[in-house]
Amino acid sequence: MIIEHNTMPVVIADDYKCIEQKNTIFIRGLWDPEIIPIMRKIEEAHYNLKLPKGTSGYTTLDAALKAAAWSICMQCTPKNEYGCANKGFYDWDGKKGLKKETFADKSEASLIIKNAAKFLGANLVGIAEYDSRWIYSSWYDFEKGQSVPAKFPFKIESVIVVAIEMDQDACFSSPSLISSAASGLAYSQMAETGKKIATFIRMLGYNAIPCGNDTALSIPLAVQAGLGEVGRNGMLITPQYGPRVRLLKIFTDLPLQADKPITFGVNKFCMKCRKCAQTCPAEAIPFDLKPTMEGTSLSNCSGILKWYTNPEKCIRFWAQNGGDCSNCIACCPYNKWSSWHHNLVEKVTESIGGDILRK
Ligand code: SF4
Ligand code: SF4
Repeated sequence: MIIEHNTMPVVIADDYKCIEQKNTIFIRGLWDPEIIPIMRKIEEAHYNLKLPKGTSGYTTLDAALKAAAWSICMQCTPKNEYGCANKGFYDWDGKKGLKKETFADKSEASLIIKNAAKFLGANLVGIAEYDSRWIYSSWYDFEKGQSVPAKFPFKIESVIVVAIEMDQDACFSSPSLISSAASGLAYSQMAETGKKIATFIRMLGYNAIPCGNDTALSIPLAVQAGLGEVGRNGMLITPQYGPRVRLLKIFTDLPLQADKPITFGVNKFCMKCRKCAQTCPAEAIPFDLKPTMEGTSLSNCSGILKWYTNPEKCIRFWAQNGGDCSNCIACCPYNKWSSWHHNLVEKVTESIGGDILRK
Protein backbone atom coordinates (compact mmCIF):
# COMPACT_ATOMS: atom_id res chain seq x y z
CA MET A 1 0.00 0.00 0.00
CA ILE A 2 1.36 3.42 -0.94
CA ILE A 3 1.10 6.10 1.79
CA GLU A 4 1.62 9.81 1.05
CA HIS A 5 3.42 12.06 3.56
CA ASN A 6 3.48 15.82 4.06
CA THR A 7 7.16 15.82 5.01
CA MET A 8 10.23 13.72 4.16
CA PRO A 9 9.51 10.26 5.63
CA VAL A 10 13.12 9.88 6.74
CA VAL A 11 14.87 10.92 9.99
CA ILE A 12 17.33 13.73 9.26
CA ALA A 13 19.71 15.07 11.95
CA ASP A 14 19.38 18.74 12.92
CA ASP A 15 23.07 19.25 12.10
CA TYR A 16 22.87 17.37 8.78
CA LYS A 17 24.92 19.04 6.05
CA CYS A 18 25.33 17.87 2.47
CA ILE A 19 28.87 16.77 1.55
CA GLU A 20 31.09 18.80 -0.75
CA GLN A 21 30.93 17.47 -4.30
CA LYS A 22 34.72 16.94 -4.30
CA ASN A 23 34.18 14.17 -1.74
CA THR A 24 31.92 12.10 -3.99
CA ILE A 25 33.67 8.86 -4.90
CA PHE A 26 34.27 9.56 -8.60
CA ILE A 27 35.62 13.08 -8.02
CA ARG A 28 37.93 11.68 -5.35
CA GLY A 29 39.44 9.83 -8.32
CA LEU A 30 40.82 13.23 -9.40
CA TRP A 31 42.59 14.18 -6.15
CA ASP A 32 42.55 11.41 -3.50
CA PRO A 33 45.73 9.24 -3.67
CA GLU A 34 43.73 6.23 -2.40
CA ILE A 35 41.14 6.48 -5.18
CA ILE A 36 43.21 7.79 -8.16
CA PRO A 37 44.68 4.36 -9.17
CA ILE A 38 41.26 2.67 -8.79
CA MET A 39 39.60 5.26 -11.02
CA ARG A 40 42.37 4.92 -13.63
CA LYS A 41 41.57 1.23 -13.94
CA ILE A 42 37.83 1.88 -14.10
CA GLU A 43 38.32 4.51 -16.80
CA GLU A 44 40.43 2.15 -18.94
CA ALA A 45 37.41 -0.13 -19.22
CA HIS A 46 34.82 2.68 -19.30
CA TYR A 47 36.54 4.48 -22.20
CA ASN A 48 37.43 1.22 -24.01
CA LEU A 49 41.18 1.80 -23.69
CA LYS A 50 41.99 -1.89 -23.26
CA LEU A 51 40.66 -5.17 -24.62
CA PRO A 52 37.87 -6.76 -22.57
CA LYS A 53 38.89 -9.96 -20.78
CA GLY A 54 37.13 -12.14 -23.35
CA THR A 55 35.09 -14.29 -20.94
CA SER A 56 31.30 -14.61 -21.10
CA GLY A 57 29.76 -11.14 -20.69
CA TYR A 58 33.14 -9.52 -21.46
CA THR A 59 33.61 -10.31 -25.16
CA THR A 60 34.40 -7.79 -27.90
CA LEU A 61 30.71 -7.92 -28.91
CA ASP A 62 29.63 -7.12 -25.34
CA ALA A 63 32.15 -4.25 -25.17
CA ALA A 64 30.85 -2.88 -28.49
CA LEU A 65 27.26 -3.00 -27.21
CA LYS A 66 28.32 -1.20 -24.03
CA ALA A 67 30.20 1.49 -26.00
CA ALA A 68 27.18 2.05 -28.25
CA ALA A 69 24.80 2.34 -25.28
CA TRP A 70 27.03 4.88 -23.50
CA SER A 71 27.86 6.87 -26.65
CA ILE A 72 25.26 9.66 -26.32
CA CYS A 73 26.08 10.18 -22.64
CA MET A 74 29.83 10.25 -23.27
CA GLN A 75 29.72 12.52 -26.30
CA CYS A 76 26.86 14.85 -25.34
CA THR A 77 27.34 15.18 -21.56
CA PRO A 78 31.12 14.73 -21.13
CA LYS A 79 32.10 13.21 -17.76
CA ASN A 80 28.65 13.81 -16.30
CA GLU A 81 28.58 10.21 -15.07
CA TYR A 82 31.47 11.33 -12.83
CA GLY A 83 29.69 14.58 -11.84
CA CYS A 84 30.76 17.22 -14.39
CA ALA A 85 28.02 19.89 -14.68
CA ASN A 86 26.98 22.48 -17.27
CA LYS A 87 28.39 20.75 -20.36
CA GLY A 88 26.79 19.68 -23.65
CA PHE A 89 23.19 18.51 -23.25
CA TYR A 90 23.33 19.49 -19.56
CA ASP A 91 24.14 23.10 -20.49
CA TRP A 92 22.69 25.58 -17.96
CA ASP A 93 21.90 28.20 -20.57
CA GLY A 94 19.82 28.01 -23.74
CA LYS A 95 17.61 29.94 -26.11
CA LYS A 96 14.40 31.07 -24.40
CA GLY A 97 10.94 31.54 -25.94
CA LEU A 98 9.82 35.03 -26.96
CA LYS A 99 6.90 35.09 -24.54
CA LYS A 100 6.62 33.96 -20.92
CA GLU A 101 3.75 31.48 -20.64
CA THR A 102 1.35 31.94 -17.71
CA PHE A 103 -0.61 29.16 -16.01
CA ALA A 104 -3.90 29.15 -14.08
CA ASP A 105 -2.02 27.84 -11.04
CA LYS A 106 0.91 25.63 -9.97
CA SER A 107 -1.14 22.45 -10.44
CA GLU A 108 -1.84 23.24 -14.07
CA ALA A 109 1.83 24.03 -14.68
CA SER A 110 2.86 20.74 -13.01
CA LEU A 111 0.44 18.69 -15.09
CA ILE A 112 1.73 20.23 -18.31
CA ILE A 113 5.39 19.73 -17.35
CA LYS A 114 4.78 16.11 -16.30
CA ASN A 115 2.89 15.25 -19.49
CA ALA A 116 5.59 16.87 -21.62
CA ALA A 117 8.37 15.11 -19.66
CA LYS A 118 6.76 11.71 -20.25
CA PHE A 119 6.26 12.49 -23.94
CA LEU A 120 9.93 13.49 -24.15
CA GLY A 121 11.27 10.25 -22.65
CA ALA A 122 10.74 10.17 -18.86
CA ASN A 123 9.41 6.92 -17.39
CA LEU A 124 8.53 8.52 -14.02
CA VAL A 125 8.29 12.23 -13.11
CA GLY A 126 7.86 13.92 -9.75
CA ILE A 127 8.13 17.50 -8.54
CA ALA A 128 10.05 18.52 -5.41
CA GLU A 129 10.11 21.88 -3.69
CA TYR A 130 13.57 23.42 -3.74
CA ASP A 131 15.42 22.24 -0.63
CA SER A 132 19.01 23.44 -0.25
CA ARG A 133 19.84 20.46 2.00
CA TRP A 134 20.27 18.27 -1.09
CA ILE A 135 22.61 20.63 -2.95
CA TYR A 136 26.33 19.76 -2.56
CA SER A 137 27.75 22.26 -0.05
CA SER A 138 30.31 23.21 -2.70
CA TRP A 139 30.52 22.23 -6.36
CA TYR A 140 33.59 20.86 -8.15
CA ASP A 141 34.79 22.66 -11.28
CA PHE A 142 36.35 20.01 -13.56
CA GLU A 143 38.20 22.64 -15.63
CA LYS A 144 39.70 24.50 -12.68
CA GLY A 145 40.25 21.25 -10.77
CA GLN A 146 38.93 22.81 -7.55
CA SER A 147 35.82 23.41 -5.45
CA VAL A 148 33.68 26.45 -6.22
CA PRO A 149 30.75 27.98 -4.28
CA ALA A 150 27.41 26.27 -4.87
CA LYS A 151 25.34 29.13 -6.23
CA PHE A 152 22.62 28.88 -8.88
CA PRO A 153 22.40 31.73 -11.44
CA PHE A 154 18.70 32.32 -10.65
CA LYS A 155 16.24 31.65 -7.82
CA ILE A 156 15.11 28.03 -7.96
CA GLU A 157 11.37 27.52 -7.43
CA SER A 158 10.99 23.82 -8.22
CA VAL A 159 12.90 20.66 -9.05
CA ILE A 160 11.59 18.20 -11.62
CA VAL A 161 12.92 14.71 -10.93
CA VAL A 162 12.86 12.12 -13.68
CA ALA A 163 13.47 8.36 -13.53
CA ILE A 164 14.60 6.42 -16.58
CA GLU A 165 14.05 2.66 -16.53
CA MET A 166 17.07 0.40 -17.16
CA ASP A 167 16.57 -2.55 -19.51
CA GLN A 168 15.58 -5.49 -17.30
CA ASP A 169 17.19 -8.41 -19.17
CA ALA A 170 20.50 -6.59 -19.68
CA CYS A 171 20.53 -5.39 -16.06
CA PHE A 172 19.90 -8.92 -14.79
CA SER A 173 23.12 -10.15 -16.47
CA SER A 174 25.16 -8.20 -13.87
CA PRO A 175 28.06 -8.12 -13.43
CA SER A 176 28.90 -7.95 -17.13
CA LEU A 177 29.48 -5.45 -19.90
CA ILE A 178 25.89 -6.14 -20.97
CA SER A 179 24.55 -4.85 -17.64
CA SER A 180 26.91 -1.90 -18.05
CA ALA A 181 25.21 -1.34 -21.42
CA ALA A 182 21.87 -1.14 -19.56
CA SER A 183 23.32 1.60 -17.34
CA GLY A 184 24.81 3.39 -20.36
CA LEU A 185 21.57 3.27 -22.28
CA ALA A 186 19.76 4.85 -19.33
CA TYR A 187 22.50 7.49 -18.94
CA SER A 188 22.21 8.31 -22.66
CA GLN A 189 18.44 8.57 -22.34
CA MET A 190 18.89 10.79 -19.26
CA ALA A 191 21.03 13.17 -21.32
CA GLU A 192 18.56 13.36 -24.18
CA THR A 193 15.51 13.66 -21.95
CA GLY A 194 17.14 16.30 -19.74
CA LYS A 195 18.02 18.38 -22.78
CA LYS A 196 14.51 18.08 -24.19
CA ILE A 197 12.71 18.95 -20.94
CA ALA A 198 15.04 21.93 -20.34
CA THR A 199 14.34 23.14 -23.89
CA PHE A 200 10.58 22.82 -23.32
CA ILE A 201 10.78 24.90 -20.12
CA ARG A 202 13.02 27.53 -21.74
CA MET A 203 10.63 27.88 -24.69
CA LEU A 204 7.90 28.66 -22.13
CA GLY A 205 10.08 31.62 -21.07
CA TYR A 206 11.60 30.14 -17.88
CA ASN A 207 15.11 29.06 -16.87
CA ALA A 208 16.07 25.40 -16.60
CA ILE A 209 19.19 23.60 -15.35
CA PRO A 210 19.25 19.90 -16.33
CA CYS A 211 21.54 17.75 -14.18
CA GLY A 212 22.57 14.12 -14.19
CA ASN A 213 25.06 13.07 -11.50
CA ASP A 214 26.15 16.66 -10.75
CA THR A 215 25.08 19.58 -8.52
CA ALA A 216 22.84 17.82 -5.97
CA LEU A 217 21.98 14.44 -4.44
CA SER A 218 19.49 12.82 -6.81
CA ILE A 219 18.09 10.20 -4.42
CA PRO A 220 16.76 12.49 -1.63
CA LEU A 221 15.32 14.76 -4.31
CA ALA A 222 13.56 11.76 -5.87
CA VAL A 223 12.20 10.75 -2.44
CA GLN A 224 10.97 14.30 -1.86
CA ALA A 225 9.36 14.26 -5.32
CA GLY A 226 7.36 11.17 -4.37
CA LEU A 227 9.10 8.70 -6.68
CA GLY A 228 10.02 6.11 -4.06
CA GLU A 229 11.92 5.14 -0.91
CA VAL A 230 15.59 4.42 -0.21
CA GLY A 231 16.58 0.76 0.18
CA ARG A 232 19.37 -1.03 2.01
CA ASN A 233 21.33 -0.91 -1.26
CA GLY A 234 21.36 2.90 -1.04
CA MET A 235 19.25 3.18 -4.20
CA LEU A 236 15.87 4.74 -4.84
CA ILE A 237 13.29 1.93 -4.84
CA THR A 238 10.29 2.84 -6.96
CA PRO A 239 6.92 1.06 -6.82
CA GLN A 240 7.00 0.64 -10.61
CA TYR A 241 10.55 -0.60 -11.35
CA GLY A 242 12.15 -1.20 -7.95
CA PRO A 243 15.73 0.17 -7.97
CA ARG A 244 16.13 -0.41 -11.75
CA VAL A 245 16.10 3.31 -12.64
CA ARG A 246 18.56 6.14 -13.24
CA LEU A 247 17.76 9.66 -12.12
CA LEU A 248 18.07 13.16 -13.51
CA LYS A 249 16.75 16.42 -12.18
CA ILE A 250 15.91 19.82 -13.67
CA PHE A 251 16.10 22.95 -11.51
CA THR A 252 13.79 25.72 -12.70
CA ASP A 253 12.33 29.10 -11.74
CA LEU A 254 8.92 27.92 -12.97
CA PRO A 255 6.67 27.58 -9.87
CA LEU A 256 5.22 24.05 -9.79
CA GLN A 257 2.96 22.10 -7.42
CA ALA A 258 5.20 19.73 -5.44
CA ASP A 259 4.32 16.05 -5.05
CA LYS A 260 4.17 14.33 -1.67
CA PRO A 261 6.83 11.82 -0.58
CA ILE A 262 5.59 8.23 -0.38
CA THR A 263 6.33 5.06 1.57
CA PHE A 264 5.24 1.55 0.63
CA GLY A 265 6.99 -0.66 3.18
CA VAL A 266 10.53 -0.71 1.74
CA ASN A 267 12.28 0.14 5.01
CA LYS A 268 10.60 -2.69 6.91
CA PHE A 269 11.11 -5.13 4.04
CA CYS A 270 14.83 -4.28 3.78
CA MET A 271 15.34 -5.01 7.50
CA LYS A 272 14.57 -8.67 6.80
CA CYS A 273 15.59 -9.11 3.19
CA ARG A 274 19.35 -8.35 2.94
CA LYS A 275 19.51 -9.92 -0.53
CA CYS A 276 21.59 -7.04 -1.93
CA ALA A 277 24.10 -7.39 0.92
CA GLN A 278 24.41 -11.12 0.18
CA THR A 279 24.75 -10.56 -3.56
CA CYS A 280 27.29 -7.73 -3.41
CA PRO A 281 30.66 -9.16 -4.53
CA ALA A 282 32.47 -6.35 -2.69
CA GLU A 283 30.73 -6.72 0.68
CA ALA A 284 29.95 -3.02 0.35
CA ILE A 285 26.35 -3.23 1.64
CA PRO A 286 25.74 -3.61 5.39
CA PHE A 287 23.88 -6.58 6.89
CA ASP A 288 22.83 -4.65 10.04
CA LEU A 289 19.21 -5.09 11.00
CA LYS A 290 18.56 -1.38 11.39
CA PRO A 291 19.69 1.73 9.50
CA THR A 292 22.02 4.24 11.18
CA MET A 293 22.79 7.98 11.05
CA GLU A 294 26.55 7.55 10.48
CA GLY A 295 28.27 6.68 7.24
CA THR A 296 31.62 4.87 7.15
CA SER A 297 33.21 6.72 4.22
CA LEU A 298 34.25 10.27 3.35
CA SER A 299 31.85 9.90 0.41
CA ASN A 300 28.83 9.05 2.59
CA CYS A 301 26.46 11.89 3.45
CA SER A 302 25.95 11.19 7.18
CA GLY A 303 23.06 12.54 9.21
CA ILE A 304 20.26 10.68 7.42
CA LEU A 305 18.80 7.48 8.92
CA LYS A 306 19.60 4.82 6.32
CA TRP A 307 21.94 1.97 5.44
CA TYR A 308 25.27 3.37 4.24
CA THR A 309 27.00 1.46 1.44
CA ASN A 310 30.78 1.65 1.18
CA PRO A 311 31.69 3.26 -2.17
CA GLU A 312 35.43 2.53 -1.83
CA LYS A 313 34.76 -1.22 -1.65
CA CYS A 314 32.24 -0.95 -4.49
CA ILE A 315 34.55 0.77 -6.98
CA ARG A 316 37.47 -1.49 -6.04
CA PHE A 317 35.34 -4.36 -7.33
CA TRP A 318 34.52 -2.40 -10.52
CA ALA A 319 38.24 -1.89 -11.12
CA GLN A 320 39.09 -5.59 -10.58
CA ASN A 321 36.11 -6.72 -12.61
CA GLY A 322 36.88 -4.68 -15.74
CA GLY A 323 33.41 -3.16 -15.82
CA ASP A 324 30.81 -1.77 -13.47
CA CYS A 325 28.23 -3.76 -11.51
CA SER A 326 24.47 -3.70 -10.97
CA ASN A 327 24.10 -6.76 -8.69
CA CYS A 328 22.43 -4.69 -5.96
CA ILE A 329 19.85 -3.48 -8.50
CA ALA A 330 19.30 -6.78 -10.30
CA CYS A 331 18.81 -8.94 -7.19
CA CYS A 332 16.24 -6.72 -5.47
CA PRO A 333 12.79 -8.34 -5.14
CA TYR A 334 11.21 -4.92 -5.81
CA ASN A 335 12.14 -5.48 -9.47
CA LYS A 336 9.19 -7.86 -9.46
CA TRP A 337 6.80 -5.69 -7.53
CA SER A 338 3.59 -7.29 -8.73
CA SER A 339 4.93 -10.81 -9.21
CA TRP A 340 4.01 -13.85 -7.13
CA HIS A 341 7.65 -14.10 -6.05
CA HIS A 342 7.78 -10.61 -4.54
CA ASN A 343 4.42 -11.03 -2.83
CA LEU A 344 5.55 -14.34 -1.37
CA VAL A 345 8.86 -12.89 -0.15
CA GLU A 346 7.00 -9.95 1.40
CA LYS A 347 4.65 -12.27 3.28
CA VAL A 348 7.50 -14.55 4.37
CA THR A 349 9.63 -11.69 5.71
CA GLU A 350 6.64 -10.46 7.71
CA SER A 351 6.38 -13.84 9.44
CA ILE A 352 8.27 -14.92 12.57
CA GLY A 353 10.33 -17.44 10.57
CA GLY A 354 11.25 -14.85 7.95
CA ASP A 355 14.98 -14.86 8.59
CA ILE A 356 15.19 -18.65 8.13
CA LEU A 357 12.77 -18.96 5.24
CA ARG A 358 14.40 -16.08 3.34
CA LYS A 359 17.63 -18.11 3.02
S1 SF4 B 1 27.36 -2.01 -7.54
FE1 SF4 B 1 28.01 -4.14 -7.14
S2 SF4 B 1 29.86 -3.90 -5.90
FE2 SF4 B 1 28.79 -1.94 -5.82
S3 SF4 B 1 27.46 -2.01 -3.99
FE3 SF4 B 1 26.22 -2.72 -5.74
S4 SF4 B 1 26.47 -4.96 -5.73
FE4 SF4 B 1 28.13 -4.11 -4.48
S1 SF4 C 1 17.54 -6.48 -2.11
FE1 SF4 C 1 16.23 -6.57 -0.31
S2 SF4 C 1 17.40 -5.50 1.28
FE2 SF4 C 1 18.29 -4.92 -0.67
S3 SF4 C 1 17.24 -3.03 -1.27
FE3 SF4 C 1 16.13 -4.71 -2.24
S4 SF4 C 1 14.50 -5.21 -0.77
FE4 SF4 C 1 16.02 -3.99 0.34
